[in-house]
Amino acid sequence: MQTQVLGYPRIGSQRELKKANEQYWAGKIKKEELELVAETIRYQNWQIQKNEGISLIPSNDFSFYDQVLDWSLTLGAIPKRYQPLRTNEGLSLLDLYFAMARGYQKDGYDITAMEMTKWFDTNYHYIVPEFYKGQTFELTSLKVVEEYKEAKKLGIKTKPVILGLVSYLLLGKVKEDSFNVLSLVDNLLPIYIEVIKQLTSEGAEYIQIDEPFLVLDLTVEQKQTIEFFYKHIQSLFPNLKIILATYFGELGDNTSLAVGLPIEVLHIDLVRGENALEKILDEAPSYLKLSLGIVDGRNIWKNDYQKSLALIDQAIATRGKEKIWISTSCSLLHSPFDLDGETKLSDEIKQWLAFAKQKISEVSELAKLSVNVDRENTVSYQANIKAHNNKRVSKLIHNEAVKQRVNKITEADANRLAPFAVRQPLQHAALELPLFPTTTIGSFPQTTEVRQWRAKFKKGELTAQEYEDLLKEETARAIKWQEEIGLDVLVHGEFERNDMVEYFGEQLEGFTFTQNGWVQSYGSRCVKPPVIYGDVYRSQPLTVFWSSYAQSLTDKQVKGMLTGPVTILQWSFVRNDIPRSETCTQIALAIRDEVLDLEKENIQVIQIDEPAIREGLPLRKVEWDSYLDWAVRAFRISASGVKNETQIHTHMCYSEFNDIIEHIAAMDADVITIECSRSQMELLDAFAEFKYPNEIGPGVYDIHSPRVPTEEEMLHLIKKAEYYIPNKQLWINPDCGLKTRHWEETEKALIAMVNIAKELRKES
Ligand code: GLN
Ligand code: ZN
Repeated sequence: MQTQVLGYPRIGSQRELKKANEQYWAGKIKKEELELVAETIRYQNWQIQKNEGISLIPSNDFSFYDQVLDWSLTLGAIPKRYQPLRTNEGLSLLDLYFAMARGYQKDGYDITAMEMTKWFDTNYHYIVPEFYKGQTFELTSLKVVEEYKEAKKLGIKTKPVILGLVSYLLLGKVKEDSFNVLSLVDNLLPIYIEVIKQLTSEGAEYIQIDEPFLVLDLTVEQKQTIEFFYKHIQSLFPNLKIILATYFGELGDNTSLAVGLPIEVLHIDLVRGENALEKILDEAPSYLKLSLGIVDGRNIWKNDYQKSLALIDQAIATRGKEKIWISTSCSLLHSPFDLDGETKLSDEIKQWLAFAKQKISEVSELAKLSVNVDRENTVSYQANIKAHNNKRVSKLIHNEAVKQRVNKITEADANRLAPFAVRQPLQHAALELPLFPTTTIGSFPQTTEVRQWRAKFKKGELTAQEYEDLLKEETARAIKWQEEIGLDVLVHGEFERNDMVEYFGEQLEGFTFTQNGWVQSYGSRCVKPPVIYGDVYRSQPLTVFWSSYAQSLTDKQVKGMLTGPVTILQWSFVRNDIPRSETCTQIALAIRDEVLDLEKENIQVIQIDEPAIREGLPLRKVEWDSYLDWAVRAFRISASGVKNETQIHTHMCYSEFNDIIEHIAAMDADVITIECSRSQMELLDAFAEFKYPNEIGPGVYDIHSPRVPTEEEMLHLIKKAEYYIPNKQLWINPDCGLKTRHWEETEKALIAMVNIAKELRKES
């Protein structure tokens, strides 16, 4: 049985690349040292796969920053503003590359970075190619060829991975004039041909071409271009064996296109597209080899061999084992590196998990088992069955009370007592807020001291009491200062939180944490998502202590501050044995309990942050409604237990609201604060058009930059907002939380913000 892997994590088992990159950027190590780190990572990755007996090991899946940016550099898709850097002798191609990723502010230059956005529906961010009308391309970086040669020297014949032409173009953004991006095909094609020519003449037999857009809705023209591209390449390179890689979903109505292409192997994601297998087996011509992406590249659970082998058996029975390959569902870029390094996880939980290194073994074991008639008696099969059997009945996972509570949720539980029109006057009477009430989004600066206290506390250098006392002082300072400058609804500042999801996960049941389960988010930034392994519930209050402490210090309202169920779900590794919606509902109930406890403690304004609602949208539009239905319902369950007088806020970071506005409205938060300043309030258009009835706080200044906004700027933005939204509905607040800022700029900016609110009240 042939096996392949679509890509391997490249940040290093101990995040070596992250550290080396950051040192290089800070000028602390030389290029040669950085390159040595990279070389070592590549060598180790190849070796791990070779040792597991993987038949086709990828190359060019390594990247210093991002694989899409690598490809832009390969093709010479370099935006014009970087031209001056190219003629600057002292600057290497690698420096140009980092300049494109991070911007360049040195030697009299001030060049902005390229934009970054989410890679499909993952938490990985890629650098968005920029396209100009009539743009020409030239082969600029030979990375893909060099890495092939590097592996070959080590005795490993790899399959280079490249990004398909149509997917590459569709990942980009059209700049200056608007034009059809497919008009660039003719200019781009010769570079693809040149790359493939160099690879084949170095001896590459297989090339993996990633075409993830094949799992999305495509236009006729896009489909035709895909067809044209593969036919053209095959006609020029008749001996080349193309592995066409699709992932993150089913091919759906692109199935006949994909199976009809002149390729050697079609890779399909069976984790996300299990039900599509039959259709593909039916439609694929008999010569086509199918690579079954059966080991989940995006989650951390051990593969269920029984289930996987049933699918593999079905495929082999229809096509014969020569035509079937075993693989990971997608690149393992989205998996943490190695489970063996986890020494603190409970053994029971650990036996259910597999990180990248373990997933490689699974691919190889599945291939062996699939052709073993005596598979039931092998050690690997039996161990796998045992782990899954014990998972099905584990008391750690299954909690009858939680399941019953979810089943008993009623319509009433997901609805506030009265509609907004009734609640609003009651809240205004209870809260006595002025017109244009001012507030902030939750966090205040996480200064070096605050972070040091936490680190010391974790290391045992501060006692729990000492740590608590320090945080109390910091919180008290923040409350006093907010009173002094005249903010209307105060926040406690979130000093006790490391991260808005981790803080909740650490206290909820059903969650666990890894020591080293890092996944690349973008560039050198990695995240360590919590693991939701079991039924989630709240065994004790989560935030009541800090909120009521803060409230005890002031007569003004202090806003309770919670992370919403969809965001907690979205930013964690989630169970695969029950639907995501069910886990989300369990979290919603836990948050609901917390909301009610806060209300009991006389917290009358409670914010439930949901910045991740939009990013959870499925890739195909037909699936949006069902996702939004359960996601919005989960939010409503978390928010709806309270009295009419209690004001529920929600917050979302930068999102396009146009196509989901009715669902945002259906969340029925009394107040929504959104990131708005960089879009010059244009995001409010969707709210205005929909006649969004509840209150809104469009952010009046960008918190991502240390720059202090002027009063004029903020006034100008609010005037624009008034054009969209009646002023009785408007709140005044920054774009997002202030934890990454310093106090110095925060103080100036918020004082100015309060001033403009006073100004506006005078005027109206
Ligand atoms: N309450 C959170 C904070 O202020 C919200 C962060 C977010 O929206 N990402 O930090
Ligand atoms: Zn935000």
